[in-house]
Amino acid sequence: MPELPEVESVRRGIVRSRITAPVAAVWRSPQALRIGKHWRRELENLDILIGATPKQVRRRGKYLLWHMHAAEPAATENTQLVLLIHLGMSGRCGVTDPSRARVAHTHLVLSFGDGRELRFVDPRRFGGLRAGTLDAIYETDPIASLGPEPLARGFGGPTLERALGRSERALRDALLDQQAVAGIGNIYAIEACFEARLHPLLPARRLAPSAWQRLADAVQAALRRGIDNGGTTLKDFRNVTGKVGRNQDDLRVYGRADQPCPVCGAPLASFVHQGRSGVLCKRCQAKPRTRRVP
Ligand SMILES: [Zn+2]
Repeated sequence: MPELPEVESVRRGIVRSRITAPVAAVWRSPQALRIGKHWRRELENLDILIGATPKQVRRRGKYLLWHMHAAEPAATENTQLVLLIHLGMSGRCGVTDPSRARVAHTHLVLSFGDGRELRFVDPRRFGGLRAGTLDAIYETDPIASLGPEPLARGFGGPTLERALGRSERALRDALLDQQAVAGIGNIYAIEACFEARLHPLLPARRLAPSAWQRLADAVQAALRRGIDNGGTTLKDFRNVTGKVGRNQDDLRVYGRADQPCPVCGAPLASFVHQGRSGVLCKRCQAKPRTRRVP
């Protein structure tokens, strides 16, 4: 499932495509996408993008936010529009020439004035699409309730401790809470716990400040490496030009159960907790008996 580094790779790909021509047409498949109160079909509003001029492409957590200037800047406060894209489990965005055949499971085609198209393809349909004014998108959920960006300036041990320091939840599960910290999914949570030498099933409230700092550093390192490698492709993920990421070859422990730990050589162990799998090194990530884990 695309996490922060994969979405960031897509964002950078859209930026590199340098699309500046206005949206000429919007096509949406008849199929419903993600179910949920923020993603109902009648909230999608995609037709408001017709005539709009593409501007910055932003990212918040695992969400892409493509800012556009509305076609008719009559009402001054409503000239800024945003296309919100959630890739879900298997969503992809590609910028392509219209002569290329549309693949199965294409759910959105934005045609631009220069002839190019942005296509959103999502076989499993857990992705989501919405367009609205800047305020409407940023001041409502899911964007409004997202926690801090882990790669933003000021993020560190205290940020994580404030968000999760009282949680009874297992560390790995706590890191997946998008309202505590935005953008982390199972892959990068598992990698960060390993790099911080913390047992992923340790209750979050047991971490001492030094452990929170180590974890924050590890989260940032794992995410940055993912971005540098163009994202992780386990199955579906592709960047804007259709290429797979390279980070799957650079993961320390995720997906490597029974292989030797890259630090100590002991075999890595798999586990399942709350229905989600994970991997750890029982030697490097031992559960200390002390009440507070340094
Ligand atoms: Zn180890």
